[in-house]
Amino acid sequence: MVMNYNNLYKKIFKRKFGQVFLKDTNIIKNIIDLIHPKINQTIVEIGPGTGAITKKLVNLVKYLFLIEIDIDLATKLTNKFSNNNINIICQNVINTNFFILSRQINQKLRLFSNLPYNNCISIIFHVLKYIDVIHDMHFMLQKELANRIIAVPHSKEYGKLSVIMQYYCNIVPLITVSPTSFYPIPKVYSTVIKFIPRNRISINLDKLILILNLAFNQRRKKIRNSLKKLFSVKDLVKYNIDPSLRADEITIDQYYYLTNKINI
Ligand code: SAM
Repeated sequence: MVMNYNNLYKKIFKRKFGQVFLKDTNIIKNIIDLIHPKINQTIVEIGPGTGAITKKLVNLVKYLFLIEIDIDLATKLTNKFSNNNINIICQNVINTNFFILSRQINQKLRLFSNLPYNNCISIIFHVLKYIDVIHDMHFMLQKELANRIIAVPHSKEYGKLSVIMQYYCNIVPLITVSPTSFYPIPKVYSTVIKFIPRNRISINLDKLILILNLAFNQRRKKIRNSLKKLFSVKDLVKYNIDPSLRADEITIDQYYYLTNKINI
């Protein structure tokens, strides 16, 4: 069922914060079912907006942290939710230290967000720094971006984002959401994805990004050329990686292997 919220949202909508409000109650229920919160858990919602999803979570978990950048919405949320288990933090999530939040409640965090359209990637990269204290993450994002995150080698969507995200997490695409489920109606479909942190040895992310930039910024070039600043043909052969492959033919494990071999 889609309710007519348009007039209500028109008054509060701010484009600069990438605000697109979910109004389809069936989708909201579906998302809550997918998150499957348990009463002893802690959920952090990034960008709760008007609290459309939040209000269905309130009674289902032990603690709820709401991180909202928009002071008007944060004030409204404070008036709406007075429960003891809710902590409303009005700030840019990029400034949130999830280690501190996790320490405060002495457990790992479950993150959820209908991510703001304009800075999904920087938010995702920020939370990756705290992967050790994250139990799982459910993010709704634009379908095109979701496809890049889940892409596998030899596909045109496979790129930097796929390699980085799949190093840190097992990724499960869950549902596709139609533009008509939101106000204002976006031009694109959205996808809800579940990220489950993998038990990985930590990696130097800057080095990985350096390799990925060199490889994918010239994705049609063979890596013997695109990566020549970092590895000689002899090195690549020694590492069992065919120098005549192109960026999108290198597996995720091969990128990590190369990252650990960089000598700078
Ligand atoms: N959760 C609501 C919903 O589904 O209806 C709103 C989702 S809307 C796509 C994104 C929300 O994130 C907005 O409430 C926006 O104000 C908030 N937001 C945008 N950038 C943010 C940031 N850097 N830190 C925290 N919240 C942010």
